[in-house]
Amino acid sequence: MDRTGSSRRGTRRVPSVIGRRRSNRKDVLLGARRNRRRPQIASRRSPDTAPTPISPLENPSQQMPVVSVIRPTSDRPQLPSVQQAATEPIFLPTLFNDRGGLIVPAPLFGSHDLLVRQNVLADQDGLGRVQDQADLDGMRTRRMLVALPASEALRIDDRLPANRRFCRPWTAQFLATLARSFYARFGTPLQVNSAVRTVEFQHRLQRTNGNAAPAEGDTASPHLTGQAVDIAKRGLSLTEIAWLRGYMLPLIEESRVDVEEEFQQSCFHISVYRRYLPPETAPQRYAISARSTPPLAVAVPQP
Ligand SMILES: [Zn+2]
Repeated sequence: MDRTGSSRRGTRRVPSVIGRRRSNRKDVLLGARRNRRRPQIASRRSPDTAPTPISPLENPSQQMPVVSVIRPTSDRPQLPSVQQAATEPIFLPTLFNDRGGLIVPAPLFGSHDLLVRQNVLADQDGLGRVQDQADLDGMRTRRMLVALPASEALRIDDRLPANRRFCRPWTAQFLATLARSFYARFGTPLQVNSAVRTVEFQHRLQRTNGNAAPAEGDTASPHLTGQAVDIAKRGLSLTEIAWLRGYMLPLIEESRVDVEEEFQQSCFHISVYRRYLPPETAPQRYAISARSTPPLAVAVPQP
């Protein structure tokens, strides 16, 4: 995020019609509370064709395992297998209520506490902060950072320099799945505006943008870890924004991502955590017998 988190964290209104697992996990890290309220219902039906409501039993997100174990900290690259990436279900949030009203979840406001939380979880994931370009290049070589998964469904802002079009492997997996789901629903691509940044770059950014997050400390920009990306909101319809909020709310509930909507830059700032990857993905590295074939790494395009 670019802002210093001056706005207070708003309540997150979780649509009850979106099938999701009720998490017993407490926000023990910061004692943050998330009030659950019914969503706003738009009075008029959207011109879009209403999708068939997904029952909780049919909702793939219900069947996705929740990872509660924090893995040992290291910067090991972890890439999902091709098979896993291909079989990951496309999650389509429910957009309309029984009367055909568009369900618009409340904005996902940022806060100082949420910025601290993203740094705490990055530390728990064992992520260092990328210091400079040489550091970034070394992490690319070791596959600790991978290329943004640009595709027909995910474009990258022309203004983002080629040497910053990278992120953590689990962030790339999240982006690819999100973009694929969004494209399946709306037929238009999402756009990434920002991804990994170096401490060196963040210092420069602070000098030119008074709202930029610090380059160090407990409120440092999560982009320094490579876990965070910004998705442009400009040009998205209310239906598309509602869909994106609905897509991310269950992932937030499961602490697999954190999201802050920025209104000055008009984007979704998203921190994706290592636990985003299903638990069966990581142990594959260690379950290889002498006879078995190592899992293939997912094909992530290189610039
Ligand atoms: Zn951001």
